[in-house]
Amino acid sequence: MSKLCIPDSLNIVKQCNKYGLPFWQCPHFLMIVLGSVVIVSSITTYLVGLRFSERPDFVVLIILSVSAFLIVIGFTIIHSFEKLADLARMKSEFVSVVTHQLRSPLSNLKWTIDLLASGRIEGVSEKQAGYLQILRENSQRMDSIVSDLLIVSRLQNNEFPLKPEKNSLAELAQKVVLRLAPFTMASNIKMETHIVSGLPDAFFDKTHIEQAIDNLISNAIHYVESKGLIEVSVLEKNNEIMFAVKDNGIGIPEEDQKFIFQKFFRGGNAARRQTQGSGLGLFIAKSIVEKSGGKIGFVSKKDNGSTFWFTLPIFTK
Ligand code: ADP
Repeated sequence: MSKLCIPDSLNIVKQCNKYGLPFWQCPHFLMIVLGSVVIVSSITTYLVGLRFSERPDFVVLIILSVSAFLIVIGFTIIHSFEKLADLARMKSEFVSVVTHQLRSPLSNLKWTIDLLASGRIEGVSEKQAGYLQILRENSQRMDSIVSDLLIVSRLQNNEFPLKPEKNSLAELAQKVVLRLAPFTMASNIKMETHIVSGLPDAFFDKTHIEQAIDNLISNAIHYVESKGLIEVSVLEKNNEIMFAVKDNGIGIPEEDQKFIFQKFFRGGNAARRQTQGSGLGLFIAKSIVEKSGGKIGFVSKKDNGSTFWFTLPIFTK
């Protein structure tokens, strides 16, 4: 049996999928709705005109002219929408290609710095070791920006599959705390953990939630000042598992709070204090938590510290 072949431009399902929009937001589908409304209203007006007007054909002509005008506007809007959507897609493809291309030269750089610093090629003086350390820190920073950009581009393109499983959020939080402990010690920051024992397991993708926890605790480390205190808690609340990290740092000014989870946003006080920062960490954490079926939020007061928290569903068989 021969298959019915619909051209792509008329295939509404394909067009809506292309832009990743649900039907009720998709301009191609809305255009069909608009066209149907126009046809039905023209017929109704004609029938009403037949009964109540001496010139029903004239009434219909006016309605049809107005409808044709509306349809032309509708088509123009669709065309502009397609142009904007294509531009946005090209932009995110550009970021994705560039970041992919940067990955291998960055790893080569890292191996070369490690090789030079190891002294296996030639002895390294103290001064040279200092410069190599600066190089290493900068290449690590570039690497983390490139990784964050890659994640953002995958999130935007819906190419960020999660593999949720039964996992212990308490264990994962403890693991991240241990990994980051050297940084807190080096900066004289006290980090406490309050993990309720015997918590039920949660249902989440370990690798990605680990990244969200890492981003939140790393922020707390970056944004505390002298006599810094960070408290990491994991507990059960309202039938969910909750992770929270509280710090006594610089806090978030009231006027910045509504933008805090936006991509590339950095608070004014944070940018003055920590020049390094991409403004992607919280956007990534929020996307991962929400994709995992959880919620994320914070409370903060300028100069009085912040508490960031998220919840995840409990694992049920
Ligand atoms: P980055 O830390 O790289 O700037 P993030 O997305 O992780 O990017 O954070 C966005 C902004 O949120 C930060 O620039 C800062 O203004 C604010 N912020 C996040 N965590 C904290 C915190 N614990 N204390 C104060 N401000 C914070």
